[in-house]
Amino acid sequence: MKSKWNEKEARKFIKEYNKKGVSRELALRIYTTRLLGNNSQLVLHGGGNTSLKLSLKNSFGKKENIIFVKGSGKDMSNIDIDGFPALELDNLIKLKKLKKISDFQMVNYQKKYMIDTTFPNASVETLLHSFLPHKYVDHTHSNAILSLIDQPMDKNICKKIFGENLAIVPYIMPGFKLAKKSSEVFKKNPKVKGLILLNHGIFTFGNTAKQSYERMIKFVSVAERELKRKSRKIKKNLYIEKKVTPSNLSNIIRKYISIPLDEDYQRKIICYSNSLFINQFFHKNVFTKINGPVTPDHVIRIKHKPLFLDFTKIKSDKIEQVIKKKLLIIKKNILIILIVTNI
Ligand code: ZN
Repeated sequence: MKSKWNEKEARKFIKEYNKKGVSRELALRIYTTRLLGNNSQLVLHGGGNTSLKLSLKNSFGKKENIIFVKGSGKDMSNIDIDGFPALELDNLIKLKKLKKISDFQMVNYQKKYMIDTTFPNASVETLLHSFLPHKYVDHTHSNAILSLIDQPMDKNICKKIFGENLAIVPYIMPGFKLAKKSSEVFKKNPKVKGLILLNHGIFTFGNTAKQSYERMIKFVSVAERELKRKSRKIKKNLYIEKKVTPSNLSNIIRKYISIPLDEDYQRKIICYSNSLFINQFFHKNVFTKINGPVTPDHVIRIKHKPLFLDFTKIKSDKIEQVIKKKLLIIKKNILIILIVTNI
């Protein structure tokens, strides 16, 4: 993965946003957030987040520490000023003294400390950003990082690959507890350039937008190189028997997922892919071991559990019956992946 930082482009952002009264720092925050958001290997719409800490004058002319954090659900690829709610940083940091707060209380505090309440709610990872001292903080659910560490011996892998550059935070659901733990881990390792959050993603930080962004690219590239070194070629799918064709299969699936559910009648669109990569990935020996998507960004789109339909074990005349049975027990609005062999 290569850095897409471009001095000319960065200067253009500063100039354009200056006309709108936006600071140089925030213009560059927008610039590198878009760089991250435009790389689907790092971030998908809704995932990832970034922040910037500044000291600004409030309405009374007094200097106040402010954090700009990505708004919840905002798309990093085309984010603008309205995607960065500003919050009173010192008040957020005070929350660290508390032992426990519920998710509801956390969101409530985040709303309470907003400078302009017409902005969207700040990300659920706002406190994690706030509890770190760095001016710029970047966070992604990078495919390469998670592919490398979502496996046994994750800590050892991180130590070996990232050494003293990144500290490791154990898995905790995003929220107050994770923010506190991440802050503790950082305090014990104040020289690190970022954090690995096990089963979750990576944080990098820096004094400038460029430094924080390029650290992200650097560590993701380290993970990519390691994956490449370790990857083994999976044998091409060998199944040749053809029981069903994609077109009649998609008709059967549509028939059962488009049925009326409660008062809604939802028609679904089916996409079919049969690329070499897909075939290799869902090879019989591999797909039964897959436990859902690798990153939180993917969960937003395909939910946490795919439905597997293995046609090697289904007789031709029973296909519709099996699909009907499996699909009818799936709840409304759940997106599914169909893993199909033999077609
Ligand atoms: Zn995250």
